Amino acid sequence: DSKDFDSEVNSICPFCGVGCQVSLKVKDGNVKYVEGINGPANEGRLCVKGRFGFDYIHHPHRLTKPLVRREDAPAKGLNVDPGNWQTHFREATWDEALDIAANGLKGRGREVAGFGSAKCTNEEAYLFQKFIRQGFGHNNVDHCTRLCHASSVAALMENVGSGAVTATFNEIKNADVAIVIGANPIENHPVAATFFKQFTKRGGKLIVMDPRGVGLRRFATHMLQFRPGADVSMLNAIMHTIVEEKLYDQQYIEAYTENWEAEKAHLKDFSPEKMSEICGIDPETLRTVAREFANAKAAMIFWGMGISQHIHGTDNSRCLISLALMTGQVGRPGAGLHPLRGQNNVQGASDAGLIPMFLPDYQSVTDDGVRSAFADVWNSGDFSNEKGLTVTEIMDAVHDDQIKAMYILGENPAMSDPDVDHARDALAKLDHLVVQDIFITETANYADVILPASAFYGKSGTVTNTNRQVQMGRPAVAPPGEAREDWAITVDLAKRCGLNWDYASPADVFAEMKLNMNSLNNITWDRLENENAVTYPSLSPTDPGQPIVFGDGFPRAEGRARFTPASVIAPDETPDAEYPMILTTGRQLEHWHTGSMTRRSKVLDAVEPEANCSLHPSTLRKLSVEPGGHVRLTTRRGTITLMARADRAVAPDMVFVPFAFVEAAANILTNSAIDPYGKIPEFKFAAVKVEKA
Ligand code: SF4
Repeated sequence: DSKDFDSEVNSICPFCGVGCQVSLKVKDGNVKYVEGINGPANEGRLCVKGRFGFDYIHHPHRLTKPLVRREDAPAKGLNVDPGNWQTHFREATWDEALDIAANGLKGRGREVAGFGSAKCTNEEAYLFQKFIRQGFGHNNVDHCTRLCHASSVAALMENVGSGAVTATFNEIKNADVAIVIGANPIENHPVAATFFKQFTKRGGKLIVMDPRGVGLRRFATHMLQFRPGADVSMLNAIMHTIVEEKLYDQQYIEAYTENWEAEKAHLKDFSPEKMSEICGIDPETLRTVAREFANAKAAMIFWGMGISQHIHGTDNSRCLISLALMTGQVGRPGAGLHPLRGQNNVQGASDAGLIPMFLPDYQSVTDDGVRSAFADVWNSGDFSNEKGLTVTEIMDAVHDDQIKAMYILGENPAMSDPDVDHARDALAKLDHLVVQDIFITETANYADVILPASAFYGKSGTVTNTNRQVQMGRPAVAPPGEAREDWAITVDLAKRCGLNWDYASPADVFAEMKLNMNSLNNITWDRLENENAVTYPSLSPTDPGQPIVFGDGFPRAEGRARFTPASVIAPDETPDAEYPMILTTGRQLEHWHTGSMTRRSKVLDAVEPEANCSLHPSTLRKLSVEPGGHVRLTTRRGTITLMARADRAVAPDMVFVPFAFVEAAANILTNSAIDPYGKIPEFKFAAVKVEKA
């Protein structure tokens, strides 16, 4: 009923990378309810987070004024009550807070590092990386892509020449076979999962591969519940079969790829019989899946953090790329590679250069011509040609006294980093920490200055979803109190650090981004205002964008994609007598990442209020723990205690822990060992001891 609200504003859901378009119904300055509208990714659908998880923006914990640490504050630690922060911080004017923030950063060159955010807009990500590069002369700037798909991007850049998806997930409508591996879309990309389910109802063959029996298994033709960490052995066995039975697409391989002979020779050693002993899937199933995928008219591969968050994450993605290339399953309707992006703007923040080795559009910081083009647009001098430090490397550098000051926008490393006590100790050690956020997050506990920012529904700006769709976010409510839009705060901080910046709006920033970002060709602010979404690449001012790319060659030398063989590498830490089980971590439907938003949403918190883990019923029986009872989990890094659920989808030697709960933070347990290429931590495998609490 239109009387229920005063105005309607169209924007984008702030949570996952699906990028659902929403209509926000506003009354008396508050969002009252949310409906899905007909965006290209969601076609009117929303999941529980998008529909009911918006009220965090009106939560009483919202920051309304700048805060600075009191001189008599207790020692830095995870010790601030967000509803009663006055013993640690005092309110300040914007002028005072920005002066303190800037004075602690400026002139410190390489002692400064920055974490931007995939929850912010493209324009805010662009400004953030520019601030670090132009302001401090180096590339120590990163964001949560490092904890997410950095290894997938490393493999895609290496072998395909582009880090983004080759086909939108909606293209599954044109496929007859699809693999979903290391992903749990029903919980983590729920609206995308609805398209996957529809695909199976139309007769599409869905092949689900995961060490956990994720929800999509109910719709699957085959469920391969392989041993944790055994991805490469299983995928190589499937590819071995394709080679052995000559099911590969010779014409495609000759036309569009390189290094095939090396891949073919490498795969000889990976027979299904031999690999079955490692991955736990019987040889005949491996052969059947190989045949079905290779014989498909059109097939897609979707993957998530189960692939990327390993020390062999890049190798996992290399295998998936090789599987698609050898069968010619790229660049056609219903065919393609699709790493499902996590946060609503992790694709866009990466595109905008919030990465230590790349400037916007994945242009290398080591390329003198590239840096000089950016320095020209920025009207500034050159900056370092050295790749910067990544998220976990920055925390190590704090411990090593190389990094002494940080600016953190919208990220929460005090919850999200692996071996999180190491990260918390690093944050406490910093001389100067500026945090810009909407709440006193766990990371803000350690801040010297907290700058109150706007939630997504309080700002203008563009975001880019997993499908490469650049979409317009619009403000529905004013930021509370004196809180401001993030882009405007970064501009004021940059000016106080001596940078000659002059932007009147996010549209000005977008116009500057277009000067050095070919991906935005034909995409203008006005188009996005009018059309809401344009997919890149867009080939003309009226082209809504290309859902499928690389139909006739790849953005690599001679237009050829590359096969890069992958070998089996054991996880960094394997179970032993003291820590006999396997820990894996992830998200759950109701809670978003570190929980700062969704745990302040009434509906979501009511549905899932308590820290929990999932164990097989037989494991619980052995421990004499009833479902709903409590267990103690211990790894070489630490211990947490939390409620246990019985879940037959979890193998008897595994425990699954969501990472949204500060009172039992999963990342106290996780291993910080990283993949050598993507520099992504091994969140998906650690040795753990499970006991009755
Ligand atoms: Fe939001 Fe993702 Fe749910 Fe869509 S699927 S409503 S983008 S959380």
